[in-house]
Amino acid sequence: MLTQLDKARRLAKRLGGARGGEFSPAGIPISRLTSEYGTPLYLYHGELVVQRVRELHTALGSDVEVFYSLKANPSLGLCQIVVGEGCNAEVASAGELLLARAAGFPAGDIVFAGPGKTDEELRLAVREGIFAVNVESLNEIDRLAAFAEEHGSQAGVGLRVNPVSQLVGSQMRMGGGASQFGIDEADLDEAVRRVLAYRKLVLRGVHVYTATQVFDADALLRHCSTVLEIGLRVASRAGQSLEMVDFGGGFGIPYFENMQDFDLNRFGRGLQQALSDYRADSRLEGCRFILELGRYMVAEAGLYVTRVVDVKRSQGTTFVVTDGGMNHHIIGTGNFGQVFRKPFPLLNLTRMEDEPEGGVTVAGPCCTPLDIFGANIPLATVEVGDLIGVFYSGAYGLSASSLRFLSHPTPAEVLLWKGTSHLLRQAGKAHDVLEGQQALVQEALGTPNEGR
Ligand SMILES: *Cc1c(COP(=O)(O)O)cnc(C)c1O
Repeated sequence: MLTQLDKARRLAKRLGGARGGEFSPAGIPISRLTSEYGTPLYLYHGELVVQRVRELHTALGSDVEVFYSLKANPSLGLCQIVVGEGCNAEVASAGELLLARAAGFPAGDIVFAGPGKTDEELRLAVREGIFAVNVESLNEIDRLAAFAEEHGSQAGVGLRVNPVSQLVGSQMRMGGGASQFGIDEADLDEAVRRVLAYRKLVLRGVHVYTATQVFDADALLRHCSTVLEIGLRVASRAGQSLEMVDFGGGFGIPYFENMQDFDLNRFGRGLQQALSDYRADSRLEGCRFILELGRYMVAEAGLYVTRVVDVKRSQGTTFVVTDGGMNHHIIGTGNFGQVFRKPFPLLNLTRMEDEPEGGVTVAGPCCTPLDIFGANIPLATVEVGDLIGVFYSGAYGLSASSLRFLSHPTPAEVLLWKGTSHLLRQAGKAHDVLEGQQALVQEALGTPNEGR
């Protein structure tokens, strides 16, 4: 098993290695990037995303379509790269749907899941003519039908199913019990009946996504067989063939100690075998088989870079205090649910050749003891001004964080692509704290001391 330090070094190498002792992703010295774009900073390595997507296509074969789950990293430039690699999109809000369209995903290759879709969101999905709205309840079927009728067009429906069986071997579960996600298996017959009763709705098929951080390829294959069986029952019930079986995804990333890479090839072989076993079934003729992946596609390609502002000793512990923390990178500080611990793999990017001396605590600037990237981290001698890198930061980083906490500016997002850097999102400024806020006018404020 690799230690977190070994992992960090391996990831640094994949991102481009070091030059003259300094981390140089895609061959560009990190100090050059930070002087151009400032700190803190998110860096994404485009070629690594491309490589990952190609590995997926190779392992899964041509019968399986890879949909990118935008919520993992809704960065427009990154999405454009994903489009270019032949992926489709899975969105969870109107904003993500608009972003997907702006990035170039065709409407006919977009699915939309998520509880609590508003009227505005369902209307947008209908107007855009996306492939499927994956409905989460019986009510949502009725609401979608009303908007399709109103707009005078057909709307594709996927039934998101809350299966009876749990996906074991995963770390965060969203099914297999009472859930806000999906329609209980027991209600599926009613769901099919309703969809068929509406002339503007087209039943595309089924969708089951119940877990993230899955490492057990065999458990995930059993899940896929269950989904296929559920799909076939729905087809029989509806008396039609299916256009879509969406298996979800949730492949794990080995962020922490004692975790190993998800065995993509084992899963891919198993899934191709399962699909060929069902090939003769006419209920699946022309069916699109879908995997939706977020984390697995982009986590490894991302790095969060933060600058050391202070190094202090307190009661025998060395604290390295950085200019960014949980406000930009909630998952990297272990504050994103119990599945996500700490530390992520960390390195002193300024001193790549120095050997670590002892362990330090790396803390962010937010005024809470929760704002810690890790304790007892073996970092090479740290001085004020050094750059600390947090690896595996491409997924659920910036967009999952509480950016307004402490009112620091948002970090820039920068893409490394074909040997050069491209600004994807500009860094904020301290003054942004006032943006969108409205001061009370003098009359509303009253005179000082009045009412005391
Ligand atoms: C979040 C989400 C995904 C992506 O999950 P990962 O674990 O990041 O791969 C896929 N499908 C749905 C419905 C989701 O909500």
